[in-house]
Amino acid sequence: MKELILEMENYASEHNVPIIEKESITFIMKYIKANNIKSILEIGSAIGYSSILMASVAPEVTVTTIERDNARYMECVKNVKKCNFDQKINVVFQDALEVNLTNTSYDMIFIDAAKGQYQKFFEKFKYFLKPNGVIITDNLKFHGNVGKSQEIESKNLRGLVSKIEDYIEFLKSNNEFDTNFYDVGDGLSVSVKKDDKK
Ligand code: SAH
Ligand code: MG
Repeated sequence: MKELILEMENYASEHNVPIIEKESITFIMKYIKANNIKSILEIGSAIGYSSILMASVAPEVTVTTIERDNARYMECVKNVKKCNFDQKINVVFQDALEVNLTNTSYDMIFIDAAKGQYQKFFEKFKYFLKPNGVIITDNLKFHGNVGKSQEIESKNLRGLVSKIEDYIEFLKSNNEFDTNFYDVGDGLSVSVKKDDKK
């Protein structure tokens, strides 16, 4: 397991795969343990690095993870097999915005895919949360660019960064969720669904 994780870290750096930062996945694994999270939906598998680490927290943790890139999906399936997590991790090869989920709900949703689509992911998948479920989002600092969108020269980058800035505002003003922001790794948000009955 430890060896596979190292192998994946090397593969990611050689192939420019943006896997989660150590500090961030450590934070998320602690959160899973502390809150007794059992079912997780991940948007953006890449090669399975974060899925495998989240699934390793406890025997009863299961993960469904969605990836739209074929090469990464294949690599992810391979890695899941290598650590014998076939029964714990379900890898779905599809664009998350096209996935049809029915009759299922999760304790946690981890959004770690295309940054321009964070709000779309949030609004689509929030219906698949259990009561008091949580949505965690990665890369809210976007390597220090967030909060400075107006100073960025590249139009593409500026557009992406201002989308993240909008997403942060969306989270702050969302009455269905209580969101906390953490200056961990590349910036994480933790949005807990409020109890409907209160
Ligand atoms: N969670 C991974 C890293 C994911 S990188 C880890 O920490 O180990 C982001 C991934 O999201 C990329 O592989 C990209 O192909 C995928 N992605 C981006 N937009 C997507 C979408 N709409 N649907 C599914 N996958 C998407
Ligand atoms: Mg990320």
